[in-house]
Amino acid sequence: TKWVYTFGDGAAEGRAGDRNLLGGKGANLAEMCSLGLPVPPGFTITTAACNWYYANGQTYPDGLENDVKSALDHIGAITGGRFGDPSRLLLVSVRSGARASMPGMMDTVLNLGLNDVTVKALADASGDARFAYDSYRRFIQMYSNVVLDLDHDVFEEILEEEKARQGYELDTEFTASQWQGVIALYKQKIEEELGKPFPQDPQEQLWGAIGAVFSSWMNHRAITYRRLHDIPESWGTAVNVQAMVFGNMGETSATGVAFTRNPSTGEKLLYGEFLVNAQGEDVVAGIRTPQNITEAARIAAGSDKPSLQKLMPEAFQSFVEISNQLEKHYRDMQDLEFTIERGKLWMLQTRSGKRTAKAALKIAVEMAAEGLITRNEAVKRIDPTSLDQLLHPTIDPKAERNVVAMGLPASPGAATGEIVFSSDEAEEMRSAGRKVILVRVETSPEDIHGMHASEGILTTRGGMTSHAAVVARGMGKPCVSGAGQLRVDYRAGTMTAMGQTFKKGDIITIDGANGQVLKGAVPMLQPELSGDFAAIMEWADGSRRLKVRTNAETPTDARMARSFGAEGIGLCRTEHMFFDGARIVAMREMILADTEKDRRAALDKLLPMQRSDFVELFEIMAGLPVTIRLLDPPLHEFLPKTDEEVAEVAAAMNVPEEKLRHRTEALHEFNPMLGHRGCRLAVSYPEIAEMQARAIFEAAVEAGKKTGSPVVPEIMVPLVGLKKELDFVKARIDAVAKQVMTESGVTIDYLTGTMIELPRAAIRAHVIAESAEFFSFGTNDLTQTTFGISRDDAASFLETYRQKGIIEQDPFVSLDIDGVGELVRIGAEKGRATRPDIKLGICGEHGGDPASIAFCESIGLDYVSCSPFRVPIARLAAAQAAI
Ligand code: PEP
Ligand code: MG
Repeated sequence: TKWVYTFGDGAAEGRAGDRNLLGGKGANLAEMCSLGLPVPPGFTITTAACNWYYANGQTYPDGLENDVKSALDHIGAITGGRFGDPSRLLLVSVRSGARASMPGMMDTVLNLGLNDVTVKALADASGDARFAYDSYRRFIQMYSNVVLDLDHDVFEEILEEEKARQGYELDTEFTASQWQGVIALYKQKIEEELGKPFPQDPQEQLWGAIGAVFSSWMNHRAITYRRLHDIPESWGTAVNVQAMVFGNMGETSATGVAFTRNPSTGEKLLYGEFLVNAQGEDVVAGIRTPQNITEAARIAAGSDKPSLQKLMPEAFQSFVEISNQLEKHYRDMQDLEFTIERGKLWMLQTRSGKRTAKAALKIAVEMAAEGLITRNEAVKRIDPTSLDQLLHPTIDPKAERNVVAMGLPASPGAATGEIVFSSDEAEEMRSAGRKVILVRVETSPEDIHGMHASEGILTTRGGMTSHAAVVARGMGKPCVSGAGQLRVDYRAGTMTAMGQTFKKGDIITIDGANGQVLKGAVPMLQPELSGDFAAIMEWADGSRRLKVRTNAETPTDARMARSFGAEGIGLCRTEHMFFDGARIVAMREMILADTEKDRRAALDKLLPMQRSDFVELFEIMAGLPVTIRLLDPPLHEFLPKTDEEVAEVAAAMNVPEEKLRHRTEALHEFNPMLGHRGCRLAVSYPEIAEMQARAIFEAAVEAGKKTGSPVVPEIMVPLVGLKKELDFVKARIDAVAKQVMTESGVTIDYLTGTMIELPRAAIRAHVIAESAEFFSFGTNDLTQTTFGISRDDAASFLETYRQKGIIEQDPFVSLDIDGVGELVRIGAEKGRATRPDIKLGICGEHGGDPASIAFCESIGLDYVSCSPFRVPIARLAAAQAAI
């Protein structure tokens, strides 16, 4: 087995396509080398070696050691160095690199190979002792943190103390001998903490770092990140070892990161930040505030610190050319890392850049216009679930803004919540159902869970590429970073801004669009769905086969869904129409009535309400199909619970409260979800179905007259398992239809169909299709009944299942294709066998889940139906499934 792939000097053993084996970083380093770009020579230890390492009790495969040795010689042959030899100095960086980029999740060690002897050689070779000792102390810090597991703060404390003693503001002010002093303190501290000295042998250092990269694949942060992003553990990580180039070799050296287009807005402008006389980690760590790369960006930001363009025009020019070349080569926006060593540019990384949903749309649309990609590719480029970010509110421009601080607009969207100062607090409050804004000086990978639990993130330090900014954009959370006027005091649990003090629990709003921090809650606006969004949606609509309907029963939801492009209603849950105000009382009267006569009396009260609801829905959806489902839920959902509720219904029904209580008790069920619900209610109390059918038909007549286009209602019977259940209810529906047609003199076209949400219904679909003109797969109940897992109680143990690797995804969120999906496929096939033109749709939650939508496309359903906010996601996912 080949465990190691080398690259350097215009040649490489790997290519961009080897991402699975070499990881994203390694594959792209190889590719850049082959393109002839300036990349420090190096080698990649494969992900296969990482997997071998874990499969074999954390040991290395035979031959790896030799391969690494020859690869080091390969680097040496290019640079003229020899690893570990002070007379021919060769220092390396060691970085992880998984298949999917996991920003901040894995660890990096720079300047490896330095020790008490080689540091002198570095000082001599560079003619800059300050630089050499600065590099050595950085190495000790990083290595101790990443490999020896010492807390970062240990060193920060020593450093801060020394800075204070010297009266310095910046690290760069230290002289060589002062750094030597710091190094002595560091080494002393390490010995104290670990009981052994800092390793001096470069080979030991190297293997320590390689082992640390492999181990970090299984650290808590990495595991969390993988879980959140559905990255399988089996991918493993690669290790990249590269000759060092130094951005901290004085004022003509620098290091930076850049995007070929703005990752926040998508604007086509090189966008990035750098620091003079610094090493890689300084930029992302957000410790010094970085400078802009281009003059244009500097001016736009109103910064008085010179841009790279001004400061190092030649290196800037080559960087611009290389970034253009890479964007064209990869046909996507690139995220670049570079170092300038004494005026010479080196590329350290390229990869497709993470971006906000808004930027993703703009970039895709513009790249299609530039002819770099096709429209179908543009459609394929957008992650459907990310559209969610665009569908969420922004601050109403007319709202009064009580601005207490300004930071950078690090990730768009606005959010309101209670202040918390730690990630653990954020998680606790979130699980108590509260909305929080995580306020930190800066964030680190340890804060991922807290960021996830928050509505938005606010930091007082760090730039647009700080950890907080990058991660928040990836998560689609609003973020304001680097709000320098804010003083956060973790110990006191306060945040001070312009003379005002905020405590934990106080409400603030952040505006990720302009970097403002606002006091209190602020009115928000619904998003604008035009421009790039509309363009992508139009292209998606042109490519999809599946129709997209919505699950909606209120006029507000129905209108919203239409504005999101819904092509009808796939599920109107009529029971949801009975929850408010006077309706719930009438509903309770109906449920608690113990004679048909009383029940009919209550139903008579409900009829006009129900009818007017349907008229409104039919009007909103004029010209589009509307599926209305007859009453479905377990009746206990409607039973009065408090004494007041009982009293209210008793008064309305004119019966003693006591009697009502007995009736309530009599209706109690042990297993209501498998109890008296769905069509079973219609079988017991056909008058309910009759009332609903009447309301539907009368509304159809009325709305048809009003809108001028005839309404073709689709009446859906829930929870059918037996054809005879459907036949029984259908007979009532047909009878009412006849009556209403006679009464009104209007002919009504309508369809009667059923939910397929029980395994029996799927298996007997060919028989049920004799009576059903359409099927709608109710995959919520079908998942519940196929697994025998209660949809209401599953959350408490399914997460454990996931953690223990028994399931990969919650089957109530993403369809279990092998099991539940198989029943859907069988149901669809059998239904079509009996009735070739049967209409088939899905209306469980899965109708808005991209992976489930792809499955629906593969079995040829006619439509998916999902909640209004998911409609754009479904339109896009349906197109991607069809392309
Ligand atoms: C279903 O069961 O999938 C469904 C859509 O119906 P409900 O969620 O209302 O039970
Ligand atoms: Mg159901």
